Amino acid sequence: MKTTIVNAHVVSPGVDLENAVVVVEDGRIKSVRKGPASAKADKNNTVVDVRGQYLMPGFIDVHTHGALGYDFCDADEKAVFEFARAKLQEGVTTVLPTTLTVSHGELVKAAKNAKKYADAGMPYAKVPAIHLEGPFINVKCCGAQNPKYVRKPDIKEVKAIAKVYPVKLISYAVESEGGAKFAKECFKAGVVPSCGHTGAKFADLKPAYRNGLRHMTHFCNQMTPLHHREIGMVGAGFLVEDLNTEVICDKIHLCPDMLRLIFTRRSLEHIQMITDSLRCSHCKDGYAFEMGGLKVLLKNGEARLVEGGNLAGSTLWMGMGLKNVHDVTGIPLKDLVRCTSWNQAIELGWGKDLGKVEKGYVADLVVINPRSWKPSAVFVDGIQKI
Ligand SMILES: [Zn+2]
Repeated sequence: MKTTIVNAHVVSPGVDLENAVVVVEDGRIKSVRKGPASAKADKNNTVVDVRGQYLMPGFIDVHTHGALGYDFCDADEKAVFEFARAKLQEGVTTVLPTTLTVSHGELVKAAKNAKKYADAGMPYAKVPAIHLEGPFINVKCCGAQNPKYVRKPDIKEVKAIAKVYPVKLISYAVESEGGAKFAKECFKAGVVPSCGHTGAKFADLKPAYRNGLRHMTHFCNQMTPLHHREIGMVGAGFLVEDLNTEVICDKIHLCPDMLRLIFTRRSLEHIQMITDSLRCSHCKDGYAFEMGGLKVLLKNGEARLVEGGNLAGSTLWMGMGLKNVHDVTGIPLKDLVRCTSWNQAIELGWGKDLGKVEKGYVADLVVINPRSWKPSAVFVDGIQKI
């Protein structure tokens, strides 16, 4: 099975190549080169003309909760299917559906639903594993997570969920009792620990860092701010270069100047764009829903708790996040694009297969319209799905 993509503007980490031809065979990229804007189609070769649009590595979203009215934690098999279908429309080819701080039973149910999607052959975006956001967070930094379900770090609970479906990432508060030891236990269990929804002081991070923790959940949101006598987790993110920081680039969770500060002062190698999108993404303004038992309303594109007004997550699409940062910082796309998939792939152990438009890589690709920044085509394992 061969596909030849012609007339592509390839944007991949370190690569910006216009008028490119990308040949895909048996699900992998066979070659990327400058070439003619046409190719001969036959029964063994499908030719796709992308008319000068960007061709990028399929996005990897490691933090997202739902879409189209469905949340991953819904006790509904259909939720993962609809969610993965919506993410694929955004150009996300690999996704870690992310849970909320809910009961153990609900987490197990979500994992079971992910397994059903995998058993059905993952017809849309790939869901190789899940992300547990909570329940081991700081009750004072819940954001839109329900404090009722917050509990102490417990690796046994993580393992019980991972038995049902792989857990790749867990967001927890490092200052929790046993927080440093928990980081070590996570690595042993094949899970990447991440500091999030945290009231930690800088000193609280250090023991977990020594135990290998290198990930921060939605940097700046729901963590201790930078103060000149206690730099908090925001200060830690700036001071400790190799912390892989998730960033929500919707210009709402972080103002444009903060995005500029992060992307121009931190190493791009250690930034991962996420959407943290909710069930209200792909929905119209005025959509109201409950999240972990709390009421949320989508108004002017912002999803906020009805009570207290805390931001509950986003409706962001990955391509728009990339555009926002590109607009705000002027950083070339070939440098920024590592933050939409390559960095995630390296940290999660898929660096040899995912995150680049290069020979040998899996042909998970997104064609981005440079005017709308929305995908006009998406390929998974070399098969055009959109
Ligand atoms: Zn989240």
